[in-house]
Amino acid sequence: MKILMVTSEAVPYAKTGGLADAVSALSIALEKLGHDVRIIMPRYYRIDRSKLEHIPGPMGVHPGYQEIWTGVYTTKLPGSTIPVYFIDHEHSFGRDGIYGVPGETDFNDNPQRFSLLGHAAFQLCRKIQWYPDIMHCHDWAAALPAILLKCTHRQGEFARTASVFTIHNIGYQGVYGKHLYPYTGLGWDQFYSAGFEDWDRMNFLKAALVCADKLTTVSPTYAKEVQRPEFGFRMDGILRYRSADLFGILNGVDTTIWNPETDTYIPQKYSVKTLEKKKKNKAELQKKMGLKIDPDVPVFGIITRLADQKGVSELFGPAYGSAFKMCSDIHMQMVVLGSGEKWCEDELVSLNRSLPNFSAYIGYDEGLSHLIEAGSDFFLMPSRYEPCGLNQMYSLLYGTLPIVRKTGGLADTVENYDEKTGAGTGFVLENLTPQSIYDTVGWATYAWYNKKEHIQKMQERGMKQQFGWEVSAKKYEDVYKSIQT
Ligand code: ADP
Repeated sequence: MKILMVTSEAVPYAKTGGLADAVSALSIALEKLGHDVRIIMPRYYRIDRSKLEHIPGPMGVHPGYQEIWTGVYTTKLPGSTIPVYFIDHEHSFGRDGIYGVPGETDFNDNPQRFSLLGHAAFQLCRKIQWYPDIMHCHDWAAALPAILLKCTHRQGEFARTASVFTIHNIGYQGVYGKHLYPYTGLGWDQFYSAGFEDWDRMNFLKAALVCADKLTTVSPTYAKEVQRPEFGFRMDGILRYRSADLFGILNGVDTTIWNPETDTYIPQKYSVKTLEKKKKNKAELQKKMGLKIDPDVPVFGIITRLADQKGVSELFGPAYGSAFKMCSDIHMQMVVLGSGEKWCEDELVSLNRSLPNFSAYIGYDEGLSHLIEAGSDFFLMPSRYEPCGLNQMYSLLYGTLPIVRKTGGLADTVENYDEKTGAGTGFVLENLTPQSIYDTVGWATYAWYNKKEHIQKMQERGMKQQFGWEVSAKKYEDVYKSIQT
């Protein structure tokens, strides 16, 4: 099958979250199944043109009112022969940030920018004379091709092209003033019929949920949760209506990058058979983060976007967050890597100053994220909602016991500890409150000091889990096949 992935992010080129990991890893797994997969994304300012190949000639794209002249660059996705096509348009994408200036508001011309990407997907196919069976669109920024196919574009060379829309995070919908709607290139009649209309504004994600041939999201539990008002971010009604077309497929882990036996970022490689070597990474982490080097104190790691979704208010909220109390009362160390909301970054700076057993690094650091996974004893991820979540899976594979809230992909991947039998792969909390985080961390610490054999068995169980993309890629293949004409 010919599959075009349309996306605003893909590793190693541009990433704000798990979407970027998922698109590239899924593409590689599908290629291994014998499919002709290609990726289209914007060329943001930071993607160095000199390392790409230029496809000669300008490419005219016609979203909305005007014709826009773009360039197309290409390269192969590392570890594969998958062509990645970058749409080059200085005015739209030649800036820092993918959706907005990091930590600030979204760019107000996002509807223009991502409408350009959507229309460019069709123009690119014409330019390279390659017409996909499936256009697989990821999240709101890449929603438009699925909408265009349903409304206007399923004709000529695209007559047999079907669309799949994957929800990586329903909290981000691309909602803008409707005066920007004409940039989509669609008529006002479609504003309602395609599902864009959202309380008199325009909503890209909502239209994709209405128009795409099939919908997927990134874990089975999240597929059920988004059909409920608490998790659906107002889209639960549409998703209940489309439930027969909605599939939950768990993201995999790219084990060429996330594998403690081969990880090039960590000072000491280890496996389930040499788990004691993990201690060296712990010492290195403690040293790097300026904490006391002590093998006998449990280290709790956190790597996260500092966004409300991740439970950061309950952890770090001024005065009521649990981190201060945990680090004050419990004999533990806490290491945090994250960036995001300003109030939270400020709070982390203040906790850094006041707690000797707390250390936060504010920023994005791939190497440190690997060291935290390898060097921590526990990994804390008390998300309010979590479509799939990657770090709890990395943690399992690195023998770092995850402490998670029972939601979405976290519920699908972590089995709660049973202190009677020693069963489980981590610690699960039901309700998201500062107190429940405190209690669960206390429980884990108690087990760490008093139930060493249970802890080790859980680590071993986690490290033996299989989270490869092969299984998930086959499930996507089934979805694609179900809409082949
Ligand atoms: P989300 O996509 O909601 O942010 P996921 O758990 O699906 O959450 O994916 C987050 C990815 O981003 C993981 O690979 C995680 O390690 C990485 N990540 C998040 N914040 C940082 C950071 N500050 N530095 C390095 N990696 C980070």
